[in-house]
Amino acid sequence: MSVAEQTFIERLRGYVGREIESPRTAPWPVNEAMIQHWCDAVGDTNPVYTDPSFESVHDGIVAPPTMLQAWTMRRLGVKPEETGGQSLLFAELDDAGFTSVIATNCDQEYVRYLRPGDLVTVTASIAGVSNEKQTGLGAGHFVDTESVWRDQNGEIVGMMRFRMLKFRPASRAAATPVGVRAHPSMNDDTKFFWDGVAQGKLLIQRCSSCGSLRHPPRPMCGACRSLDWDTVTSSGRGEVYSFVVHHYPPIPGFETPYVVALIALEEGVRIVSNVIGVEPSGVAIGLPVQVSFQAVDDSLTVPLFRPTEAS
Ligand code: ZN
Repeated sequence: MSVAEQTFIERLRGYVGREIESPRTAPWPVNEAMIQHWCDAVGDTNPVYTDPSFESVHDGIVAPPTMLQAWTMRRLGVKPEETGGQSLLFAELDDAGFTSVIATNCDQEYVRYLRPGDLVTVTASIAGVSNEKQTGLGAGHFVDTESVWRDQNGEIVGMMRFRMLKFRPASRAAATPVGVRAHPSMNDDTKFFWDGVAQGKLLIQRCSSCGSLRHPPRPMCGACRSLDWDTVTSSGRGEVYSFVVHHYPPIPGFETPYVVALIALEEGVRIVSNVIGVEPSGVAIGLPVQVSFQAVDDSLTVPLFRPTEAS
């Protein structure tokens, strides 16, 4: 490490331990309405969170632990404090050319369930700054922050360690990766699927006990918990249920922009794939598609989808 780099990293490390911003108390106590909205949004139907008459070990409604951060979120449009440790640290990194940021890790720890009426306050500080690292996105520094939530009695109820990479974005030309499309990971649960694809068949798992179809492949039936299954061969026909157009970052083996879509097969299961043979602007929800087996290399064929002839 050069003297200049050493000096720079020491200045960055000077922020370790500093508060990101002033402690922030939740604008509202933990409450049933927010819990209900959260459960609706994420599709969590566990009655322990929403049904006051449900008899559980908690003896009353509790909040989903993963809501921890939601209680103290800044209101929409409210900017972080400019004099907070993270703003100052990020400004230094920006000045040095590390202008982009991406979240890379998040670990949360829950000490106790929150109940309606609890009022939480979060404090957060810079926990660490790494040396300069080379990453697939460019050179950068990992910044760790640590947040602690306390209740109205000052007792810790949960913690979070959050890691971000502040990086210098590589130029587009330099960032274009070479190489081929990565092969999917195959294991005992997914082997049948890829064996089928190699033979030009799109196989869907079917529970031998209750007949439910499921995809992606997994050992147990989500409907009846049976471990017995066989397969049916899909017609390969379906429609675009949802999709995104991937522009950036570039991925080896893919030419951007490309379409990543959730295809609703006519048998009733959905599969993630790419839509090909049409400009991304021509893809829409409901577009009828048909599977198309594309050889990537000598050892891999993938099931992609293209618009059906009629469409
Ligand atoms: Zn079943």
